[in-house]
Amino acid sequence: MCGICGKKKWDKSFNKNAATKDGLQTRCRDCERLYRIKNKKHIVKRHARYNAMKRAEKLRDRLASEELNESINSRCQSTQTDSNLSK
Ligand SMILES: [Zn+2]
Repeated sequence: MCGICGKKKWDKSFNKNAATKDGLQTRCRDCERLYRIKNKKHIVKRHARYNAMKRAEKLRDRLASEELNESINSRCQSTQTDSNLSK
């Protein structure tokens, strides 16, 4: 029996779920589909937030490495300037 619409369904109407007693989803496929559609917005939002977080992390890493490169470059330049001055 479907835990959402309460309809008795053939086992074929239920997806398998090893976590439940009878090895089937508590929701029938129709209700599972509706549930997913309902939660799609929420899921998409969560994914968007996750992606934004990952992007921010990448950006931060890139900025950090760019800063590092800049400091290395400026060090090299100053070394060059020093050697040029000593000539
Ligand atoms: Zn159902």
